[in-house]
Amino acid sequence: MHICEIFRSLQGEGKDIGCPTVFLRTRGCNLRCSWCDTSYAWEMEGEEVSPEYIYGKIGEYSTDRLCITGGEPLLQKDLYQLLDGIQGYRVSVETNGSLDISKLAERNLMISMDYKTPSSGMEDRMLNANLGKLRSCDQLKFVIAHGADYFFATKILGSNEVLAEVIFQPVWGVDISTLADKVLDDELDVRVLPQLHKYIWGDLKGF
Ligand code: SF4
Repeated sequence: MHICEIFRSLQGEGKDIGCPTVFLRTRGCNLRCSWCDTSYAWEMEGEEVSPEYIYGKIGEYSTDRLCITGGEPLLQKDLYQLLDGIQGYRVSVETNGSLDISKLAERNLMISMDYKTPSSGMEDRMLNANLGKLRSCDQLKFVIAHGADYFFATKILGSNEVLAEVIFQPVWGVDISTLADKVLDDELDVRVLPQLHKYIWGDLKGF
Protein backbone atom coordinates (compact mmCIF):
# COMPACT_ATOMS: atom_id res chain seq x y z
CA MET A 1 0.00 0.00 0.00
CA HIS A 2 1.04 3.59 -0.54
CA ILE A 3 0.69 5.34 2.75
CA CYS A 4 1.23 8.92 3.77
CA GLU A 5 1.12 8.79 7.56
CA ILE A 6 -0.02 6.83 10.58
CA PHE A 7 -0.83 8.79 13.72
CA ARG A 8 -3.03 8.89 16.79
CA SER A 9 -5.44 11.72 17.37
CA LEU A 10 -9.06 12.44 18.24
CA GLN A 11 -11.60 11.61 15.59
CA GLY A 12 -12.56 15.07 14.38
CA GLU A 13 -15.58 14.25 12.24
CA GLY A 14 -18.72 12.15 12.21
CA LYS A 15 -20.37 9.79 14.66
CA ASP A 16 -17.15 8.95 16.55
CA ILE A 17 -16.19 12.60 17.02
CA GLY A 18 -13.90 13.10 20.00
CA CYS A 19 -12.82 9.46 20.31
CA PRO A 20 -9.10 8.63 20.38
CA THR A 21 -8.35 6.94 17.07
CA VAL A 22 -5.40 5.68 15.04
CA PHE A 23 -5.44 7.12 11.54
CA LEU A 24 -3.94 5.45 8.50
CA ARG A 25 -3.76 7.95 5.66
CA THR A 26 -3.22 6.44 2.22
CA ARG A 27 -1.61 8.22 -0.71
CA GLY A 28 -3.33 9.04 -3.98
CA CYS A 29 -6.64 10.70 -4.77
CA ASN A 30 -8.69 10.74 -7.96
CA LEU A 31 -10.46 14.01 -7.04
CA ARG A 32 -9.27 17.58 -6.52
CA CYS A 33 -11.74 19.25 -4.16
CA SER A 34 -11.36 23.02 -4.00
CA TRP A 35 -11.27 23.03 -0.19
CA CYS A 36 -9.13 19.92 0.25
CA ASP A 37 -7.01 20.10 3.40
CA THR A 38 -4.90 17.02 2.60
CA SER A 39 -3.43 17.90 -0.78
CA TYR A 40 -0.12 16.49 0.49
CA ALA A 41 -1.75 13.06 0.02
CA TRP A 42 -2.92 13.58 -3.57
CA GLU A 43 -0.12 11.78 -5.38
CA MET A 44 0.41 8.03 -5.15
CA GLU A 45 4.16 8.15 -4.83
CA GLY A 46 6.92 6.69 -2.72
CA GLU A 47 7.61 3.19 -1.49
CA GLU A 48 4.83 0.70 -0.90
CA VAL A 49 4.46 -1.01 2.46
CA SER A 50 2.91 -4.37 3.28
CA PRO A 51 -0.22 -4.97 5.37
CA GLU A 52 2.05 -6.63 7.96
CA TYR A 53 4.07 -3.42 8.30
CA ILE A 54 0.83 -1.48 8.87
CA TYR A 55 -0.47 -3.95 11.49
CA GLY A 56 2.79 -3.46 13.37
CA LYS A 57 2.62 0.33 13.22
CA ILE A 58 -1.00 0.68 14.30
CA GLY A 59 -0.34 -1.81 17.09
CA GLU A 60 2.08 0.69 18.66
CA TYR A 61 -0.91 2.81 19.73
CA SER A 62 -3.28 1.94 22.54
CA THR A 63 -6.65 2.49 20.93
CA ASP A 64 -9.11 0.11 19.38
CA ARG A 65 -10.46 2.59 16.85
CA LEU A 66 -8.84 2.66 13.41
CA CYS A 67 -9.78 5.12 10.68
CA ILE A 68 -8.47 4.51 7.16
CA THR A 69 -8.52 7.76 5.26
CA GLY A 70 -6.77 9.45 2.39
CA GLY A 71 -6.30 10.56 -0.21
CA GLU A 72 -8.79 7.96 -1.41
CA PRO A 73 -8.30 4.55 0.25
CA LEU A 74 -10.28 2.67 -2.41
CA LEU A 75 -7.48 3.35 -4.91
CA GLN A 76 -5.17 1.00 -2.98
CA LYS A 77 -5.08 -2.38 -4.69
CA ASP A 78 -4.42 -4.28 -1.46
CA LEU A 79 -6.96 -2.43 0.71
CA TYR A 80 -9.21 -5.49 1.09
CA GLN A 81 -6.29 -7.72 1.94
CA LEU A 82 -5.38 -5.20 4.65
CA LEU A 83 -8.95 -5.04 5.95
CA ASP A 84 -9.34 -8.80 6.06
CA GLY A 85 -6.28 -9.12 8.31
CA ILE A 86 -7.26 -6.47 10.86
CA GLN A 87 -8.41 -7.86 14.18
CA GLY A 88 -9.56 -6.20 17.38
CA TYR A 89 -10.32 -2.76 15.95
CA ARG A 90 -13.47 -0.81 15.29
CA VAL A 91 -12.64 0.16 11.73
CA SER A 92 -13.96 3.05 9.68
CA VAL A 93 -13.05 3.76 6.07
CA GLU A 94 -13.43 7.26 4.67
CA THR A 95 -14.17 7.43 0.96
CA ASN A 96 -14.94 10.28 -1.38
CA GLY A 97 -18.10 8.90 -3.00
CA SER A 98 -16.72 8.55 -6.52
CA LEU A 99 -15.77 4.84 -6.41
CA ASP A 100 -17.85 1.70 -5.89
CA ILE A 101 -18.25 0.89 -2.18
CA SER A 102 -19.82 -2.57 -2.69
CA LYS A 103 -16.86 -4.51 -1.29
CA LEU A 104 -16.66 -2.26 1.76
CA ALA A 105 -20.36 -2.81 2.42
CA GLU A 106 -19.73 -6.58 2.70
CA ARG A 107 -17.47 -6.04 5.69
CA ASN A 108 -17.92 -5.38 9.40
CA LEU A 109 -16.77 -1.75 9.41
CA MET A 110 -18.22 1.72 9.18
CA ILE A 111 -18.21 3.38 5.78
CA SER A 112 -17.84 7.13 6.08
CA MET A 113 -18.75 8.39 2.63
CA ASP A 114 -18.67 11.94 1.32
CA TYR A 115 -21.10 13.25 -1.22
CA LYS A 116 -19.26 16.18 -2.75
CA THR A 117 -21.20 19.43 -2.96
CA PRO A 118 -20.87 22.11 -5.69
CA SER A 119 -18.34 24.17 -3.69
CA SER A 120 -15.89 21.26 -4.06
CA GLY A 121 -16.10 21.38 -7.86
CA MET A 122 -16.37 17.57 -7.79
CA GLU A 123 -20.14 17.05 -7.53
CA ASP A 124 -20.33 15.58 -11.05
CA ARG A 125 -17.93 12.79 -10.05
CA MET A 126 -20.23 11.22 -7.48
CA LEU A 127 -21.42 7.64 -7.99
CA ASN A 128 -25.11 7.80 -7.11
CA ALA A 129 -25.47 4.02 -6.88
CA ASN A 130 -23.37 4.17 -3.70
CA LEU A 131 -26.19 5.89 -1.82
CA GLY A 132 -28.29 2.73 -1.90
CA LYS A 133 -25.38 0.63 -0.63
CA LEU A 134 -24.85 2.53 2.60
CA ARG A 135 -26.16 0.71 5.69
CA SER A 136 -27.55 2.04 8.96
CA CYS A 137 -24.11 1.58 10.55
CA ASP A 138 -22.52 3.90 7.98
CA GLN A 139 -22.43 7.67 7.63
CA LEU A 140 -22.88 10.05 4.73
CA LYS A 141 -21.26 13.46 4.94
CA PHE A 142 -22.00 16.65 3.05
CA VAL A 143 -19.54 19.52 3.45
CA ILE A 144 -21.52 22.76 3.23
CA ALA A 145 -19.91 26.06 2.23
CA HIS A 146 -22.97 28.10 1.27
CA GLY A 147 -26.68 28.03 0.47
CA ALA A 148 -26.18 26.35 -2.89
CA ASP A 149 -24.41 23.43 -1.20
CA TYR A 150 -27.22 23.16 1.34
CA PHE A 151 -29.85 23.15 -1.40
CA PHE A 152 -27.88 20.53 -3.35
CA ALA A 153 -27.55 18.26 -0.29
CA THR A 154 -31.26 18.45 0.54
CA LYS A 155 -32.09 17.67 -3.08
CA ILE A 156 -29.89 14.56 -3.05
CA LEU A 157 -31.47 13.41 0.21
CA GLY A 158 -34.96 14.12 -1.09
CA SER A 159 -34.48 12.01 -4.18
CA ASN A 160 -32.63 9.01 -2.69
CA GLU A 161 -33.37 6.59 0.11
CA VAL A 162 -30.42 6.72 2.50
CA LEU A 163 -30.14 4.37 5.49
CA ALA A 164 -26.90 5.85 6.79
CA GLU A 165 -26.68 8.63 9.34
CA VAL A 166 -26.42 11.94 7.49
CA ILE A 167 -23.96 14.60 8.60
CA PHE A 168 -23.87 18.22 7.50
CA GLN A 169 -20.47 19.72 8.17
CA PRO A 170 -19.65 23.37 7.47
CA VAL A 171 -16.46 23.92 5.53
CA TRP A 172 -13.74 25.16 7.88
CA GLY A 173 -14.04 28.92 8.41
CA VAL A 174 -17.80 29.07 7.77
CA ASP A 175 -20.06 29.88 10.75
CA ILE A 176 -21.74 26.68 11.97
CA SER A 177 -24.65 28.52 13.60
CA THR A 178 -26.11 29.54 10.23
CA LEU A 179 -26.14 25.91 9.13
CA ALA A 180 -27.57 24.76 12.47
CA ASP A 181 -30.41 27.32 12.30
CA LYS A 182 -31.23 26.31 8.74
CA VAL A 183 -31.39 22.60 9.62
CA LEU A 184 -33.69 23.33 12.56
CA ASP A 185 -35.91 25.67 10.52
CA ASP A 186 -36.27 23.04 7.80
CA GLU A 187 -36.76 20.23 10.36
CA LEU A 188 -34.13 18.06 8.69
CA ASP A 189 -33.19 14.78 10.34
CA VAL A 190 -29.45 15.25 9.95
CA ARG A 191 -26.58 15.74 12.36
CA VAL A 192 -24.74 19.09 12.24
CA LEU A 193 -21.12 18.65 13.26
CA PRO A 194 -17.95 20.75 13.12
CA GLN A 195 -14.44 19.49 12.45
CA LEU A 196 -13.40 19.13 16.09
CA HIS A 197 -9.69 18.70 15.39
CA LYS A 198 -9.56 22.10 13.70
CA TYR A 199 -11.13 23.79 16.72
CA ILE A 200 -8.44 22.19 18.87
CA TRP A 201 -5.33 22.30 16.68
CA GLY A 202 -6.14 24.47 13.68
CA ASP A 203 -5.39 23.44 10.12
CA LEU A 204 -2.29 21.34 10.82
CA LYS A 205 -1.05 18.41 8.81
CA GLY A 206 -1.54 15.13 10.58
CA PHE A 207 -4.68 16.07 12.50
S1 SF4 B 1 -11.49 13.51 -2.03
FE1 SF4 B 1 -10.56 14.08 -0.07
S2 SF4 B 1 -8.32 13.91 -0.41
FE2 SF4 B 1 -9.32 13.90 -2.43
S3 SF4 B 1 -9.24 16.04 -3.09
FE3 SF4 B 1 -11.25 15.71 -2.09
S4 SF4 B 1 -10.95 16.29 0.07
FE4 SF4 B 1 -8.90 16.02 -0.87
